[in-house]
Amino acid sequence: MIGVEEKLTGTIADDLPDLLAIVDLIYQDDAGLHLVDFKTSRSKWGDSRVAEAAEQLRLYQVMSQHFAEHGTDIHLHFGVLVKVKSPYAQVLDVPKANMNSSRIAETIRPIWHAIQMDVCYPNPSMTGCSGCAYRDRCPAHSG
Ligand code: SF4
Repeated sequence: MIGVEEKLTGTIADDLPDLLAIVDLIYQDDAGLHLVDFKTSRSKWGDSRVAEAAEQLRLYQVMSQHFAEHGTDIHLHFGVLVKVKSPYAQVLDVPKANMNSSRIAETIRPIWHAIQMDVCYPNPSMTGCSGCAYRDRCPAHSG
């Protein structure tokens, strides 16, 4: 076991600010380093749901390189608690993809530019807002 709610910080491009990632679980075994993100869901996750959410873990992968010795495989997984009448858990592997810092930076760059231009679309939710570090600065909670 390497970390639970492990905070990773790092820069992935010179024109972007430092990023903060909080990885739910990091562990290592004979197969390599494993990064796990836990989710809750009202329904079972399938391949398409994993694909939709995968970029989050691929960003974590790029930011966690320093945990892995050179050549160590990094494996990404979602642990999903399915909240139905009889709850159950899924452990789902994220397929390997050709993901690198510059490709992730292309995704993040327009968001950073929008932030710099004060473009703000708050998306309040019970789960998101309760632990949000920006709540005291958020227009959705200014009144
Ligand atoms: S408090 Fe945070 S999570 Fe909620 S709407 Fe504002 S920025 Fe988004």
